[in-house]
Amino acid sequence: MILFDNHLHLRENGRFLEAVKDFKNAGGTHFILCQLPMVNKVIIDGNYKKCYNVTLRMADKIKSEIDIGIFITLGPYPVDYIKLKDKFGRLKAIEIMEKGVDLAIKFCEEKKSVAIGEIGRPHFNVDEQTITDSNHLLLYAMERAAEIEVPIVLHTESTTHENCKEFVKMGEKVGLPPYKIIKHFSPPFIYKNENYGLMPSILASRKNIEIAFKKGNRFLMETDYIDDPFRPGAVLGPKTVPKRTLYLLENGIITEEQIYKVHQENPEKIYDISLE
Ligand SMILES: [Zn+2]
Repeated sequence: MILFDNHLHLRENGRFLEAVKDFKNAGGTHFILCQLPMVNKVIIDGNYKKCYNVTLRMADKIKSEIDIGIFITLGPYPVDYIKLKDKFGRLKAIEIMEKGVDLAIKFCEEKKSVAIGEIGRPHFNVDEQTITDSNHLLLYAMERAAEIEVPIVLHTESTTHENCKEFVKMGEKVGLPPYKIIKHFSPPFIYKNENYGLMPSILASRKNIEIAFKKGNRFLMETDYIDDPFRPGAVLGPKTVPKRTLYLLENGIITEEQIYKVHQENPEKIYDISLE
């Protein structure tokens, strides 16, 4: 049975391979390794090359040591804008992040990455200029993603019905279909009048997932594991997605057919990948 975590971060100096083994031992078969924010590296280099390379290198290491399905997403983390602006000024910050998008696109074209992300807007209150510039960058990334038909992974302020609608509309402007707009850290917004067609990636807390499966099958599951030894338990652990899914199956709350849709059919369609 395919069990898929749609959003997980790892660190070379964190639990790293041990965390992947935990995921696998709990029944996990495939996951998305999402670029970890590394703004200090970006400031030193003035570009995203090295921090993307860290993620690619981690994926290679995992593949060489553990039999597990792994896919990567790369992109300029939205909060990077703030430090980059302080260091280089607004226009240079935007330029560095646009180039970060371009480089992420190149890795998608080379099939080393399956999506652009996480990108979007800071998750805390920021000034108007930051929102304007973040929206500019997001639209740019959506436009480039639409050109090569890859999804984007959104990191934003708390998900609301209104901002789902806003992101779907932005996608429409540049030809990126709603199902290619993945809302990371989404509440269980499953119905069309809740998410406007955007693809929810739902944090795998017990409550969220039970509500989501009750409403339907059009969603993904994620932990947003951050592999930070200094903040153990700050987020869901790497076992959570397989454990929770299997618990619901064993207790007759969901069926194998539902698991197939959420863990295999949805990711295969969204990322244009095969999970056999
Ligand atoms: Zn994340």
